[in-house]
Amino acid sequence: MKRYSAFAIAREAARHHLGWERAWASPEPKSHYDVVIVGAGGHGLATAYYLGRNFGITNVAVIEKGWLGGGNTGRNTTIIRSNYLQDASAAIYEKARSLYETMSQDLNYNVMFSPRGVMMLAQTQHEVRGYQRTAHANALQGVATEWISPQRVKELLPIIRLDGPRYPVLGALWQARGGTARHDAVAWGYARACSAMGMHIIQQCEVTGIRQSDGHVTGVDTAKGAISCNKLGLVVAGHSGVLADMAGFRLPLESVALQALVSEPIKPIMDVVVMANTVHGYMSQSDKGEMVIGGGADGFNNYTQRGSFHHIEETVRALIETFPMISRLKMLRQWGGIVDMTGDRSPILSKTPLDGCFINCGWGTGGFKAIPGSGWGMAELMAKGHSPLTEAFGLDRFREGRFVDESVAAGVAH
Ligand SMILES: Cc1cc2nc3c(=O)[nH]c(=O)nc-3n(C[C@H](O)[C@H](O)[C@H](O)COP(=O)(O)OP(=O)(O)OC[C@H]3O[C@@H](n4cnc5c(N)ncnc54)[C@H](O)[C@@H]3O)c2cc1C
Repeated sequence: MKRYSAFAIAREAARHHLGWERAWASPEPKSHYDVVIVGAGGHGLATAYYLGRNFGITNVAVIEKGWLGGGNTGRNTTIIRSNYLQDASAAIYEKARSLYETMSQDLNYNVMFSPRGVMMLAQTQHEVRGYQRTAHANALQGVATEWISPQRVKELLPIIRLDGPRYPVLGALWQARGGTARHDAVAWGYARACSAMGMHIIQQCEVTGIRQSDGHVTGVDTAKGAISCNKLGLVVAGHSGVLADMAGFRLPLESVALQALVSEPIKPIMDVVVMANTVHGYMSQSDKGEMVIGGGADGFNNYTQRGSFHHIEETVRALIETFPMISRLKMLRQWGGIVDMTGDRSPILSKTPLDGCFINCGWGTGGFKAIPGSGWGMAELMAKGHSPLTEAFGLDRFREGRFVDESVAAGVAH
């Protein structure tokens, strides 16, 4: 694979851009791989990448029923932060955030990581106590966050109205090195790096069955025929329950649609990410100038990857109280993705009852930020059978009652 560089851009400009290679290959599947990963979203591709980079395992196929990055990875609002409450969560999300800092260099692909700062507004006394507690926990965990006053909020975000009619702004949890990244580029960068290591990314190839013998996984049935493997990783977000059913076990998950919308592009008005969880809304401004807006998940289980009118109304109505200027914006488009929610709002990175079959799911409304940390831990779990990053997130926690409760950090926020 030729490296991207300023020199390469100049060279290609001189020859009418005829020399660029395809970023990743589209091979036909082989009959056997050491590892098969189902799902070419960010988490599946990152798992494959770190299997190769950290453990030298490159006889790997990533099988995708649609196009890579076409699931939640290409549908999210790209917020990256690591200000969670529990130690296990802070560890994996901070690992991910720190990997985002150097991802463009590591992958030789510009993922446009923008550590512009993430602000979580406290608009009730309950939230004040919750976020101050998180700031203290983060200090102990070595995660750089701070509690800031309403005046500091206003300095960082001049468009805010501090004395909202229902919910005044009482302060915020601020993570200065949180931010955003270009979501498609994260998937594309990992895909290109995997392909360069000789891995196969097989798109338009739905997995329709999971083969097993004597309690051990032996392969998968796909739209392009049967493929055998020694180890299998299921990394399919909102469709985890469907794949688990094929493998013969059940997951403590619900699948629901989560929606977002963008406004028409306007001149720069804010350079931070802001989340208002009491009223259910959050917002950032894209590089194109659009206001990227999201709210809560649908209140009922479904598999519809699209938006709905009630969501626009509820989310925009909530945000207008604190950001009156958005009432004058036209909204351009909305969409939805299917997220998988666990009861404790923490992910599952785990061995499964089927030997050799591993699962990575349950990231719910907030897994984009976790992609590199999750891939790192999942690869270690699949290669070595255990990983300090994933230890707390096993399936057995639901049987043993060892929940990693992140309902405050992740219940509404992303
Ligand atoms: C509107 C919205 C906003 C969000 N905002 C944020 C945010 O701001 N910050 C944040 O951190 N997170 C956010 N998230 C959550 C985040 O997008 C997800 O947690 C994350 O992208 C999950 O990545 P993934 O790789 O696990 O899943 P996906 O990207 O969904 O990838 C799973 C893939 O599996 C494939 N697949 C499914 N079934 C099969 C099969 N049978 N065979 C083969 N392939 C299959 C799918 O086609 C899909 O491509 C948001 C999500 C949504 C929907």
